[in-house]
Amino acid sequence: MELKEYWSDSYHSSDFKLTRIGFVAIRFRWLVTLLIIGIAGWIAVDWWVLDPAHFQLIWKIRLITGAMLTPLLPLSYLCKLNRRWMVASLYFLLGILLTFNLVGLWSFRDGAPIPIGYVAFPYFLLALLSVLPLPVKSGLRVALVVTLAVLGTDYWLDRHSLHNGALLDRLWLLLCFSLAMIWVQAGQLRMLLDLYRESTRDPLTRLMNRRLFMRQLEQAQRDSRHQPFTLILFDLDRFKRINDEHGHLMGDEVLVRVATTLGDIFGPDATLARFGGEEFIVLLPNTTLEQGLRRAETLRLAVESQPVENPLGEGEITVTLSAGVVEGRHDSKLQVLLNQVDEALYDAKRNGRNCVQAAA
Ligand code: GH3
Ligand code: MG
Ligand code: MG
Repeated sequence: MELKEYWSDSYHSSDFKLTRIGFVAIRFRWLVTLLIIGIAGWIAVDWWVLDPAHFQLIWKIRLITGAMLTPLLPLSYLCKLNRRWMVASLYFLLGILLTFNLVGLWSFRDGAPIPIGYVAFPYFLLALLSVLPLPVKSGLRVALVVTLAVLGTDYWLDRHSLHNGALLDRLWLLLCFSLAMIWVQAGQLRMLLDLYRESTRDPLTRLMNRRLFMRQLEQAQRDSRHQPFTLILFDLDRFKRINDEHGHLMGDEVLVRVATTLGDIFGPDATLARFGGEEFIVLLPNTTLEQGLRRAETLRLAVESQPVENPLGEGEITVTLSAGVVEGRHDSKLQVLLNQVDEALYDAKRNGRNCVQAAA
């Protein structure tokens, strides 16, 4: 995982963004549920430890806070679809909880001793938020909001001057909790990204696997509007023979080399995947059938003209591939397209291999 991927989600793929937001939404829902139960349930503790005058006010504050958090539960189902909703919900949660902290402390403005639970609330909040796999930039923003709210609350209630040692102590503690929160969040982000990559990448070629490709294809079709897109399905010719005659190590080397050539020829606009054992698939957005056929032919020639060296130093071999090409539109049925491109590839094999065939 690269450092910039820890920093901001703008460096994550659109598919991982959605996966992470789905994960955050589930944790967020649990967090809100626990907070509603905890904040309302704490009324029993307050009843035990507070004098009646303070208790009369605080139980109402607690019930109102719990009620205000409740809309976040249904909202969390929308959040998993949209990053903006997720961010808005998170700051709404922070706003309510920090207001609860402010009003709670305000209710002790008469100089009565403040129970430790109320003093520790902002730190408790930071500890709870560490369950969300947020990038460092988002974690820093959350920590900044909490710190500013604590400063604002202190200033407004005039319980400390902003220069005295007690406040410095609180700031130092907030800094420690914030760093711990960001550390745990980044660790979770890393774990999530590692698991995501394990489950969506082919370990040999590092291309995406069939599962991720299908999700990308559905997304690309939704984004294509009225532009055509092209699918190219490649299959290596007589690959079994390469394995049998030169060994599996050579077979693997051929797959890696073809994957590299695919990346070089098609560039960053294309979506490339290992579709099966020695089958690769390419999705080209904004591409007609004729353009797709030309680009498939370019790859065919490139692979044919670059012999692959045996990793054990036992000479080199020439590899060829066959390809089927099909054009899709926003209203095409994806399963039909995949069948058509598979049949075109089969035709290319029947026509003698090492050639490109358009779907009928
Ligand atoms: P055709 O030209 O008709 O495609 O013949 P082929 O021999 O390429 O086709 P076939 O499907 O019979 O063989 C595919 C072979 O690919 C069989 C399998 O052992 C091999 N294979 C699949 N995955 C891997 C892999 O990851 N590494 C290696 N070395 N071989 C693999
Ligand atoms: Mg083959
Ligand atoms: Mg095959």
